[in-house]
Amino acid sequence: QRKKLIDEIYKVNKLATMYFYNKLFSEEGRQALTYIRKRGLTEATIKKFGIGYSSPHGNGLLNFLKEKGYTESFLVKAGLLSQKNNRYYDRFRNRVMFPIIDVKGNVIGFGGRSIDDSLPKYLNTPETEVFKKGKTLFAINFAKKTQQDKFIIVEGYMDAISLHQAGIDCAVASLGTALTEDQARLIKRYKGNVVIAYDADEAGISAALRGLDILDELNLNIKVLTIPYGKDPDEFIKKEGVNAFNQLIENADSLIEFKAKVFRKNLDLDNPQDRIIYVKKIAKDIAKLSDEVKREVYISSAAKVAQIPENAVRTEVARFVNREI
Ligand code: ATP
Ligand code: MN
Ligand code: MN
Ligand code: MN
Repeated sequence: QRKKLIDEIYKVNKLATMYFYNKLFSEEGRQALTYIRKRGLTEATIKKFGIGYSSPHGNGLLNFLKEKGYTESFLVKAGLLSQKNNRYYDRFRNRVMFPIIDVKGNVIGFGGRSIDDSLPKYLNTPETEVFKKGKTLFAINFAKKTQQDKFIIVEGYMDAISLHQAGIDCAVASLGTALTEDQARLIKRYKGNVVIAYDADEAGISAALRGLDILDELNLNIKVLTIPYGKDPDEFIKKEGVNAFNQLIENADSLIEFKAKVFRKNLDLDNPQDRIIYVKKIAKDIAKLSDEVKREVYISSAAKVAQIPENAVRTEVARFVNREI
C-alpha cells in the first residue's frame, strides 16, 4: 500500500518535471529563461538538472495532471498542489523549478525559486511520503558517481549547479541551514572526504560549525573552505573563475584549524584575559567529542595555538565533560 503510493509519487513527480521543463521553453517561460541565462546557466546545465518553470496561473499543472487521471487529493499528498477552502491550486507558481533527485534517480521533490522578489525566495516540496527534509542532498545523484573520494557541500541549489557547470561535479547542497545526521550518513555511504563550502556570512559559519561535529562523529575527513568577501560559491565562481575556487579548495582549513579560527575571532591571544576566554570556548567544544583519542589531539592543538600548557586545556575540558553528567 505504502510502497504503491511512493511509486505513484515518483511517477507523478517525473511527469511534473517534464511539464515544468517544457514550460520553461514555451512562451510563458520566457522571463524565467532570461533569468536563468542571466545567472549564467547554459542550456546543457538546464537539461542536466532538469530545471523548469511553474507558471503564475495556479492551475497549469493541476489541469495537466488531472487530464492524466490523477486526483486532486493524491496530488496534495505528492506535494504538488495546495488546498485552501476546498479549492486546489498549484503549489509552485511563477518559480524556477529545481527537481530534487535521490540516489536511485527518483524525483522526490522540488525547490522553486521566485523570480519576482516575492517571498519566500525558495519554496520547497512539503514533507511527503517520499520527501523528508534533511534526509537528502541536492545533486547527490550526480556527485556520488565521481571518481574522487570527496564531496563538496554547499548551501544552495545555485551553488551546487554552478560548481557542476564549472566542472566540479562532486558538489552537493544541503539545502539551507545545518547538515543533519541523516545527510552525514548519506555522505559516509559514498565518500570519505568532505569539503564544507558554505556562505561566508554568520549563518553560513554557524551552520558549518554545527555540521562539522556531525561529520566528525562519523570519522569523515573534513575540510572547511572559506569564501572571501562575504560571497557564496556561486557568486565567487562567477566573479573569480573556477581556478580561483580550486585554489580555495587547496587552501581549505582542517577541522581544527577552522574551529581555532572561529574561536579566536575578536580575541587577542597576546592578552591573558583573551587567552582564558579562548581556552574556555575551545574546551567546551572539545568536551562534546565522544572519541577520547580525538579529544587528546584537539587539546594539544588548542594548547599550541593559545600557547598554554596542555594540562591547562585538559583540565578545562574535564570540567565541561563533568558538568554535562
Ligand atoms: P540565490 O543565489 O538564488 O539567491 P542562494 O542559494 O544563494 O540563492 P541563500 O539565501 O544563500 O540563497 O540560501 C541557501 C539555500 O537555503 C537555498 O538554496 C535554499 O535551498 C535554502 N533556502 C533559502 N531561503 C529559503 C526559504 N525561504 N525557504 C526554504 N529554503 C530556503
Ligand atoms: Mn546565505
Ligand atoms: Mn546565491
Ligand atoms: Mn547563498
